[in-house]
Amino acid sequence: MLRQDFNRIDPKRRNVIDHRRKQFATAQYKEAEYKHRLNFYADPPTADITLEQFEQWAIDRLRVLAELEACSFRNKSPAETALHMKPILEKYLPLDSNSSSSSKLAAQRQKDHYSHFILRLAFSSTEDLRRRFTRVETMLFRIRFNSDDLADRAGFVAGLDFDWWHPVSDEERRLYAAELAAMASTNRKAGGGNEDEGWFRVDWERVPDLVESRRVFLKAGKAFVPVREQASMVVAEFSSRLEKQLALTARALPRLDEDDRLTPILNHLSKNFITPDSAYMSNTAAPDGAVISAANIDSLSQHFPACMSHLHRSLRRDAHLKHYGRLQYTLFLKGIGLNLEEALAFWRSSFHKITDDTFNKDYRYNVRHAYGDVGGDSNRRGGGYSSFSCQKILTEHPPGAGDAHGCPYRHFNLENLTALVQSMGVADRGVLQGVKEDKDTQKYHMACNRVFEHLHKQEIKKAKDEGIMTSNQLETIVHPNEYFKRSYLLKNLGKESDTKMED
Ligand code: SF4
Repeated sequence: MLRQDFNRIDPKRRNVIDHRRKQFATAQYKEAEYKHRLNFYADPPTADITLEQFEQWAIDRLRVLAELEACSFRNKSPAETALHMKPILEKYLPLDSNSSSSSKLAAQRQKDHYSHFILRLAFSSTEDLRRRFTRVETMLFRIRFNSDDLADRAGFVAGLDFDWWHPVSDEERRLYAAELAAMASTNRKAGGGNEDEGWFRVDWERVPDLVESRRVFLKAGKAFVPVREQASMVVAEFSSRLEKQLALTARALPRLDEDDRLTPILNHLSKNFITPDSAYMSNTAAPDGAVISAANIDSLSQHFPACMSHLHRSLRRDAHLKHYGRLQYTLFLKGIGLNLEEALAFWRSSFHKITDDTFNKDYRYNVRHAYGDVGGDSNRRGGGYSSFSCQKILTEHPPGAGDAHGCPYRHFNLENLTALVQSMGVADRGVLQGVKEDKDTQKYHMACNRVFEHLHKQEIKKAKDEGIMTSNQLETIVHPNEYFKRSYLLKNLGKESDTKMED
């Protein structure tokens, strides 16, 4: 799959690779044929590409997947997501249909095929990455399936040859005529198609979403599915095959370690997927008009989301935070614009029960390290670590006893969460009930945004009425630093003549 790229390979190293154990040693070269625009990615690619193509194609696909994930965090509907993704897909991963007059069909499909497999390698190492990769790849497949040319789609589906999917025979149609007619009528009322479009019979486990929403007729463990629900079945099959294949890839991964051309690229790619929200990677600017200093953190904390508010209160109460809480909070403060000198002053005065010596010995280095003032070369070059996105806080390093980090909407029990949200100024029973429901359904971002909207109701109205906010600025918050920035700017609307709502 990879063409030797002599500029990028250490020649000494090339000789020590054991060719019998190379990842692709047994792959037979097979010219890939791309009859259809859609792909189930059953066969890995085997033709040569350069390292540059390997890297660039993967990065392009990663952009698409990260954007899809951001759409789901923002709770966009499938139609909104498809609309939002259209220009992004056209730019990074275009796929024209057979009926188009494009001369680039083969090249587009090759890039799609290869980039999918490269990211499979990058994202099969942990269960969390595999789950997220399957989710966003399935979203991508669904968008493409739904937007496919009808003739192309029919040809693709016919070629799938699912052995678990059987057309309902005339005899079955006669036998269950009443039930099928009733089902069709229910579907029609719900905006579905007509009853003459035909049916498929499948094991009901294949179409759990249709069973749950009662859009199929069930008989003896079989679901009778209208043809127009085909998309649901095809997408579910895509997802389940990909899950299995990723598990297989994970087992083959250790063999890749010997290839020092690919491993750094793959590690880099998966790291980028861990922090999909890159808006705050290097943006540590304070909002216009804000003075971010150690002395101001107490008053600025009224603009903090629940996670940072809890860290701040715990720090004030105990004059201490454990390691991960310090890291989460330090990087957040850095992200709102607190410079290193002020950060050191803030932490020193906050840890007021310890001596200067202890502070210098045990804590100073970590703060400087987070800012990239000390540490490895790449840390220094990159200006230290980025502040954590909600996704990272929600999914990595769950807090243990005595820890104050994490996301309260996820990691607190309901009683403690309610007390925290009330202490942030939420007394409205409807909002508290909404937070409870969001937590129950694991929509933690939604709970956080619900609280934000309640606490800034008047300011949001004013900003909307006066046309100060664009639709981008009203999107769901998926980063604690965005929460702070938006809160600060909204609460200061009109106070500073030059206060602007900037992305
Ligand atoms: Fe913090 Fe994000 Fe959780 Fe809100 S959703 S509390 S910003 S981690």
